[in-house]
Amino acid sequence: MRATVMYSAGDVRIENVPDPQIIQSTDAVIRVTRACVCGSDLWPYQKMENSDTGRVMGHEAVGVVEDVGADVRTIKRGDFVIMPFAFSDGTCMFCHDGLQTSCIHGGFFGTTEVAGAQAEAVRIPLADGTLFPLGAHADDALMPSLLTLSDVMGTGHHAAIIARVTPGKSVAVVGDGAVGLCGVIAAKRLGAEQIIILGRHADRIALAKDFGATDVVNERGDAAVERVRELTGGYGVHSVLECVGLEQAMNTAISIARPGGAVGRVGVPQEQTIPESEPAFYNNVTVGGGPAPVRAYIEDLLPDVLAGNIEPGRVFDRTVALDGVPDGYRAMNDREAIKVMVKP
Ligand SMILES: [Zn+2]
Repeated sequence: MRATVMYSAGDVRIENVPDPQIIQSTDAVIRVTRACVCGSDLWPYQKMENSDTGRVMGHEAVGVVEDVGADVRTIKRGDFVIMPFAFSDGTCMFCHDGLQTSCIHGGFFGTTEVAGAQAEAVRIPLADGTLFPLGAHADDALMPSLLTLSDVMGTGHHAAIIARVTPGKSVAVVGDGAVGLCGVIAAKRLGAEQIIILGRHADRIALAKDFGATDVVNERGDAAVERVRELTGGYGVHSVLECVGLEQAMNTAISIARPGGAVGRVGVPQEQTIPESEPAFYNNVTVGGGPAPVRAYIEDLLPDVLAGNIEPGRVFDRTVALDGVPDGYRAMNDREAIKVMVKP
């Protein structure tokens, strides 16, 4: 089959690789009907060291189950499924706590250990715990939004949950990528009254406003902090969704939280330390977050997607076949596209 293989920073190729096979009796294999390129794929795209074997990329997909191992009980051939970006057994104590990204037997797709989904097919470890089956084949028009439940919508929602967004609160979203935009949707869905988006790309800001952002802050650094304070009576916001992962974004996030506020961080951190420790301490700001347990959130978010109450699939502004994936990486990296969908 054909798959997306990254060999080093900027070197993404479409190649023939062996078809995925059932290895463990709890595996399934799905034919990928939609996948996409993630903002977090851009970190290796910018930094990956040279690899002789390469890495099959992609951790977001929807598809149809083609094969199941002998011990797969609930997932069946022909099921249409959502594949969360992490696999999980669904039975360990962390899965029971709704933190499938910490599953004792779990892991992540698109790593050197488990191949990714920017491909014609993908092997799914622990299929019963990992995959979310939808009874019927959903409407084609809903596919982009269903695809976001494998990562970005669940991740934006996680940021909002960790930042304790509740009705009537003020929220700031740091980052106008697909996750930040889904964070706006999540904040609105949870009843936030004021939603400030921090970003500077006109197309993304327009979408953020459509999704429910009430204010836009184009500034960066100290100027951004000052502007958010102006918009919030001088005190900052109750909840901050940090959807970037860079030091400056975290710095801003903590600086715009009001005393007693919370920062939900879902941007993959690119540094070892969290800045602004002292203001976070003196303002009693809670800082939390991490990889979103999107498997746990699908059940919450799916009804609103199916009913059309939220349309996170609008973050996709370009669709490519596998051959177009390398240019899709380039386009996202150059901020020419918000998020690229792949139809293998
Ligand atoms: Zn588990």
